[in-house]
Amino acid sequence: MKQYRYVIDYDCTLTEMIGSIRTLQEYVQAKKGILQIFEPNCQSEAIQKDLDYINSSLPGIEVYGMTGHGALSRETHSIPYKVCSLLFFDTSDFQINVFDCASLSPREAGEQYKQILAKIENLQGILMMSSDFALCPERFIDKINEFDPEIVVFGALAGTPTMGDDRSKIFYGNQIYERAILAVAFYGKDLHLCHFYNLGFRPLGKELVVTKSNDTGIVYEINNKPAFDIYREHLGVGMNQYFFENTCSFPLFLRENGNPLARVALDYHQDGSLAFATEIPVGSSVSLSYSTADIMLDEASACALKLDDFVPEAVLIYVCMSRRMLMGDNLAEVEFEFFQNICNTATWGHGYGEILHADGLRGFLNASCVIIGMREGARPDEKDRVRQPFSQKYLKEYLDDHKVGFIPLPVRLVNFLESTTKDLRDANELLFKEATIDPLTQVYNRRALDHYMRTFLGQLNQYSSIAVLMIDIDHFKHVNDTYGHDVGDLVLSAVCQDAKKCFSKSDVLGRWGGEEFIGIKPNLSIDKAIDFCESLRVQIENLEIQHAGHITISIGVTLMKPDDTPDSILKRIDAALYEAKETGRNKVVVNKIT
Ligand code: GH3
Ligand code: MG
Ligand code: MG
Repeated sequence: MKQYRYVIDYDCTLTEMIGSIRTLQEYVQAKKGILQIFEPNCQSEAIQKDLDYINSSLPGIEVYGMTGHGALSRETHSIPYKVCSLLFFDTSDFQINVFDCASLSPREAGEQYKQILAKIENLQGILMMSSDFALCPERFIDKINEFDPEIVVFGALAGTPTMGDDRSKIFYGNQIYERAILAVAFYGKDLHLCHFYNLGFRPLGKELVVTKSNDTGIVYEINNKPAFDIYREHLGVGMNQYFFENTCSFPLFLRENGNPLARVALDYHQDGSLAFATEIPVGSSVSLSYSTADIMLDEASACALKLDDFVPEAVLIYVCMSRRMLMGDNLAEVEFEFFQNICNTATWGHGYGEILHADGLRGFLNASCVIIGMREGARPDEKDRVRQPFSQKYLKEYLDDHKVGFIPLPVRLVNFLESTTKDLRDANELLFKEATIDPLTQVYNRRALDHYMRTFLGQLNQYSSIAVLMIDIDHFKHVNDTYGHDVGDLVLSAVCQDAKKCFSKSDVLGRWGGEEFIGIKPNLSIDKAIDFCESLRVQIENLEIQHAGHITISIGVTLMKPDDTPDSILKRIDAALYEAKETGRNKVVVNKIT
């Protein structure tokens, strides 16, 4: 494999690039070649002209790419150049597919792509690009995940030089697409890919909950207030043309399967809603976040060492402009320099978001740096390596200037905020425990159940299904009447301790009131949920309780539906439980969704 990099109007002109490619040994030998272009210009006519020129001048080379950021802000210069990466393969191959989402949803496109992938052997990774930030391409990635959860998907969302103005485009061959998903499948027995994800952003301040959002990336409300207020109240930001510049270094922070994620608001609306390039479901816990150049560069240098160990022949980098805004141009160049030292043809691009589906990440990233290394064949022996010295020169200069001794004011402020945030969160955790745990049974109380029902409802699409069950002790009044209230308490506590064993850490069990309990268990089909309830019922029936002997329980169970509210769920489990009581107790009744 061989990579070449051309930065048009910086290293060379477009004509010079074409001339140079035509003389390359790999091109002359007609090796499989693919040219990725990050285009800083969003004018279709100009892009079309260049594409026609490249395609007609370089037959045999497949061309794809996307529009990215040119000059991002009025204060910070960025990179107004076309950045091109040319890859030639020796033993492996690639296949490019484009799905025009003017007529297809990302999910439908993903469904079609699954059929295509089924025919590809030795698939090693998929590069993906998409245009139109309201497209939310994660649903496309979900389909690839269904096909094979191990396949790494990486890439970027197309961007534009002016934030909020969505004229982003992707292109393949001579064709330009306003709203589409492009996928390049790389395959071959000898092809190896490695991937890295650097974020560096850390949560600051209070945790808040998204209370109203939709599936095209609009967040209407956070903590039941207009979403914009998070920036107005915490950063003093107003609704004006500097919105992006003022907020992009403070993305929303959340976690997905334990992985830290940032979400950068691309735009705001007058109603106080914020537009993101992916959905942030109702119930998501978010806070503002911030990073420092130190954190980012430490992470990048650690990552570079790992990349070096992989010995890549090609490196593709997809990185967010918010890092450049935060670090400033010089240090952003240092971050890139780390990777360039390992592979001097490393190519970067900025869009409206990065893509990495790997290690539990669903796919859509913001404020991050995604690094992909590629190699054909085995990792060379240490002695055979033509090693680029991994230069610490820039880091050293940076450290000398900034790190030792004097700490810049913003860094000290962030340190202060971070420690205050930690104190606050520790105190909150304690308060949360006291406010959410039922003292008698040590399971969640009604308030917590209400919170978790809303949270799970908001995350419904992240699970195959979510079962909710209501448990009620049979003839509990009789226990109280016969053995006294204290023994009644003991029974409640014993039943909970025993039932808890059936619930995992990510499930929820709580006391709804009196001798009624609610359980929430994700990823159970209705049949599995019935089996679960049945075994729980039998387990409690067999439980020997001090002073009271044996008791029984009745259970009503249902699955959550997308249009449910906590009330509608309660109605269903209540009705099922009522039926269980009416028809003899000590049984499980399901309320099938109608
Ligand atoms: P069923 O089989 O129809 O559920 O009959 P039941 O007797 O269990 O139902 P009912 O709702 O009539 O009675 C519930 C009883 O639970 C009434 C109340 O005194 C008792 N109870 C509620 N909270 C507590 C508590 O914290 N401790 C004790 N010991 N008893 C409680
Ligand atoms: Mg009862
Ligand atoms: Mg009851």
